Amino acid sequence: MTSIQFHPAESSLELYAAGQLDPAMSIMVSAHLEYCPVCRQQVAAAEHKLASQLEQAQPEAMNSELDSMLAMIMQQSPDSVIEANQPALQQEIMLGNKRFPMPRALQAHPQHIGPWGRLPGKIQRARVDAVSDSKMNFIYMDQDSALPEHTHQGQEITLVLAGTFIDDAGTYVPGDFIIQDAQNKHTPRTAANQDCLCLTLLDAPLHFTSGLASLLNPFSQLFFK
Ligand SMILES: [Zn+2]
Repeated sequence: MTSIQFHPAESSLELYAAGQLDPAMSIMVSAHLEYCPVCRQQVAAAEHKLASQLEQAQPEAMNSELDSMLAMIMQQSPDSVIEANQPALQQEIMLGNKRFPMPRALQAHPQHIGPWGRLPGKIQRARVDAVSDSKMNFIYMDQDSALPEHTHQGQEITLVLAGTFIDDAGTYVPGDFIIQDAQNKHTPRTAANQDCLCLTLLDAPLHFTSGLASLLNPFSQLFFK
């Protein structure tokens, strides 16, 4: 079994730890962390560093803030605390008769996901809306499917959630966090006898470069809706 080779930038992990990533990127990073103990450790170290910096900066303020937070928590009745911790979570992505684990960051927001629609080829897509201006999609590639060759006008982040896909540069397994931009031209396809589910984040439409697909560039809009 191949292990994760592609990770978010260190700067993204630091911003994540500080709570300063935009919501869409924060969901992508959080989903990667579910798969990646290496980055989890890095985020924990960054959090630790931030906490000790804060303590050094203003020990008095910190303590009084902590005190008032504790007081607020103590005032809440146990029932309301339990209720607040139990939204209706959707822990699985259902696609036909297949089930995939839902990234934790999205489990409380099933109303923002889908419905699933078919794209040309054996590709299916479900939008994730209401997360900033970027376009987030679940993309499911059935066995023996491929996307037309394309470049990216902006940045495309692909996180593999299940299965494997391959392009000119490598093989990607669950947890891989692949960042591509206008420099990268690729033709993603599934590995033999494998399907693949990804979560993608686009900040501009894909630009298809080969054959029919380049005539069909409006096709790229399908991915950007
Ligand atoms: Zn990682």
